[in-house]
Order: sequence, then C-alpha cells, then structure tokens
Amino acid sequence: MLKACYSIRMRAAERNPELGEKHISGGERIGSKSQIEPIVKQLLNKASNHSRGDADFIQITVEKIAPDQIQYMPPLEITTVEATSIEKAHSEARKILTSLGVSEHALNVAFHQLSSNQNLRGAIILNSKTGIRLDDRGQKGVRVSRIDWQDADGDFNERVREALALASKVANSPFTIAELCWSDDPDYVTGYVSNRDIGYVRITPLKREGCESGGRAFFVSDEVELDSYIDYLESVPVLIRRD
Ligand code: AMP
Repeated sequence: MLKACYSIRMRAAERNPELGEKHISGGERIGSKSQIEPIVKQLLNKASNHSRGDADFIQITVEKIAPDQIQYMPPLEITTVEATSIEKAHSEARKILTSLGVSEHALNVAFHQLSSNQNLRGAIILNSKTGIRLDDRGQKGVRVSRIDWQDADGDFNERVREALALASKVANSPFTIAELCWSDDPDYVTGYVSNRDIGYVRITPLKREGCESGGRAFFVSDEVELDSYIDYLESVPVLIRRD
C-alpha cells in the first residue's frame, strides 16, 4: 500500500488596524506523516524570520492527500541571465515572453502589476493576448499549492527549489503560455520567466534592492478552462522528481 501523504501549507501576515493585513510569507509542502513535524518547524522558521516584517498571524494547515492522486513531473531546466541593469533585465524578460506569444499589452499589464503591487499573496492569471485578468481573487490571487519535491535535491538553495517546483507545476498545464515572477522580498532581486519549452530562466536584477513589490503572473491561452485550471493549480498534488 502507498504511504499516506500530507499537504502542509503556511501563511503569515502582519495585521495593522489602520492599514489592514500585510502579506509576509507563504509556503507549500508535501510530506509523509513522519515529515509533518520537521516541515512545520521549517515553515514556522520561514514565517518568523522574514525580511518583509514581523508576522503576528501564522496559519499552518495540514491535510491528508490520497497518494494515488499525486502527479509526478520533472523540473524545468534552469538557465540564468545576468543583466547590467533593471531596464536591461526587464527588456530581456519581455523579449523572451514576446517570443512565446505574449502580447505587448499583456506584458504591460503584468509588469505594471508586479512593479506596483506590494501585497499580492498569489498569482494573477492573464489572457496572454488581451492582458485581461481572468481570476477574480484580488490581492489574494491564486496560490499554487500541494507541491513539493519527491526527494531532497541538494543542487539548489531553498528559494530556488520552491520556485522551480512551482514553475514546473504551472508550466505542465496545457493552458499555460508562460509565467513571470519576481519576489516581493526586499532583499531578493532575481526573478524568472518560464514555460515548458524554454524552461526556467532566472533573470537578475528585475527590481531594486529594498523594494517590496513583486508577484507572479500566469499568461494563459484563449482556450483556458478557468475553473479546472485553478483547481489544478490549487488542489492537484504534484511531486517533482528527475526522470
Ligand atoms: P516569493 O517567490 O515567495 O517571494 O513570492 C513572490 C510572489 O509570488 C508573492 O508575492 C506572491 O504574489 C506570489 N506567490 C508566492 N507563492 C505563490 C504560490 N504558491 N502560488 C502563486 N503565487 C505565489
């Protein structure tokens, strides 16, 4: 019999009576029963030592998942582009996304959102041609969840491991044209563009140090079936493993 698995999710925020809730950090993991405790510790540690601020609300959710529902997929290939300025890095990201079929208008929407939004918890889903935002989640966005690596992979640091797993799940949907991401952490200026053909292209620097805006944009095709796309991203358990 396959061993039971658990989805372990974390969300941390700072609650300000005047300004409302500020997103601090989130985390998505999958583990066996004996891994729950160490994973919860790692997630608590991530939430408690964060450059975006001091979390005063931390929620951890543990949910059993059926092992026969888990999909297995390989990670995208990683490449890195180092630019000499933020402008050059943006233009490199735009060039790649344009070559994948994302329209100039959709790019403008995404770059504007990621440059101006300091409190996005998940991703925005944009039609890759019209640039129209398709999800109605506001600041919450759509969070890719139930995602992890099957085995510890020592090749990358924790941040790249998490982002690569997420981008690999997103790219695996036939509705995804491409993804654009940069962090909302003030001390992390590297972002990426990704899709199933070009892989995971890290690009640096996509923003200036100290800046707290960032987020993720998923560009999708006209054929997207939005409900099933969001259900895949949020609910289908995925483990990343090398073939
Ligand atoms: P991070 O890579 O954790 O610094 O997150 C950067 C931005 O990506 C966040 O501000 C969110 O908007 C978005 N994001 C983070 N985690 C997820 C996720 N699991 N699913 C979708 N979007 C996410």
